[in-house]
Amino acid sequence: MHGLPCGCGNEGCLEQYASVTSMVNNAKKSLSEGVRSSILDYSNGDIDLVDSYCLTKAYENQDKLASRIIMDAGVFLGVGISLIINLLNPPLVIFFGGGGKDKRINFVTVHTQCHLVKVFI
Ligand SMILES: [Zn+2]
Repeated sequence: MHGLPCGCGNEGCLEQYASVTSMVNNAKKSLSEGVRSSILDYSNGDIDLVDSYCLTKAYENQDKLASRIIMDAGVFLGVGISLIINLLNPPLVIFFGGGGKDKRINFVTVHTQCHLVKVFI
C-alpha cells in the first residue's frame, strides 16, 4: 500500500492520517500553500508555531481548514478502529491522551459505528 511516508519506515500508516502530529503538519502544509485560515491568529501569524492548540481554537471558531483537518483525522481514526473491532472483537476500546477535549472524538465515534460489522451494533 502506498501512502504518506511514516517515521517507522512504512507508507500509509494510520498515524500519518489520524494523529495530532499529522493534523498539525496538514495545517502547516495548507497554510504554506496559501490557504486562508484563522489558525494563524493563534500562532502570531507564524506557520512554524502552529500547534494543536491553534488548530483546536480555530476549530472552535468554525474555521473551515481546521474543521476539515480535524474531521478527516477523525474519519481515518474511526475507520481504523472499526477494522480492529471487526477483526478482534475487543470488549472495550479506550482512548487516552486528549480525552474529551480532543475534537476528533465525535467523528471517530460516528465513523467507527458506520464501519462496524452489523453484529457489533
Ligand atoms: Zn508507521
